[in-house]
Amino acid sequence: MARRKKIYEGKAKTLYEGPEPGTIVQYFKDDATAFNAEKKAVIEGKGVLNNLLSEYFMLGLTNIGVPNHFLKRLNMREQLVRSCEIVPLEVIVRNYAAGSMAKRLGIEEGTQLPRPIVEYCYKDDKLGDPLVTEEHIAAFGWASPQDMDDILSLALRVNDFLSGVMYGVGIKLVDFKIEIGRVYEGDFQRLIVADEISPDSCRLWDIETGQKLDKDVFRRDLGSLTDAYTEVAKRLGVMPKTSAPMGKPTLIN
Ligand code: 5GP
Repeated sequence: MARRKKIYEGKAKTLYEGPEPGTIVQYFKDDATAFNAEKKAVIEGKGVLNNLLSEYFMLGLTNIGVPNHFLKRLNMREQLVRSCEIVPLEVIVRNYAAGSMAKRLGIEEGTQLPRPIVEYCYKDDKLGDPLVTEEHIAAFGWASPQDMDDILSLALRVNDFLSGVMYGVGIKLVDFKIEIGRVYEGDFQRLIVADEISPDSCRLWDIETGQKLDKDVFRRDLGSLTDAYTEVAKRLGVMPKTSAPMGKPTLIN
């Protein structure tokens, strides 16, 4: 069996060289981390659920014309994506105050914001992904002013799409984080949505009960993360087809 070339191993995903130039295989691990990897666990089935959910959201974005890196799902844990140069920013969109923003500005969690607020963090684990302004981004050359216009537009389109999809299944999209990739096409470069969109990178609250259905369940020890993600997948109709999708493989003689 030929060994694949590993390109990068992150906290929740591993990237391998794809079968064709310009492609990457994105493998979703079961590892969960929080607070800059100070808290760690292996949550059986998380990778499968995030693979399916990210596929669902990225395909939806493709269908409404929001460019993204997704090409096709390969199996329960892997998807083929377009290789791109990741812009070193975490782009966060918030509809309701929660998490770091609630803390930073002293706003009660769950307060609806006057309009969606977009924030940028510099992607650097050692620094804990600090919040930065467009001044920092331009001065340090992480993205050009034209890029920032495109990034804002992508972020708001993803927000409208995701908010609507989640609202349709009784879930409030509190906030989310996306990453942006740069692809080159001849003389042009284009920005696309990359990485993943899953309950690992969103805050999702049940509209009726306020129950958290996202990674805060793990961050704040609120119960089973698999149950929370399974609930999101079930409501969206993207559950794995087999009855025991999350278990370990069984040896068949
Ligand atoms: P906060 O800044 O409140 O911690 O996070 C805002 C939103 O961005 C949340 O939905 C959170 O899950 C997401 N987010 C922020 N940083 C990261 C990160 O490093 N990894 C992931 N997966 N999501 C993040």
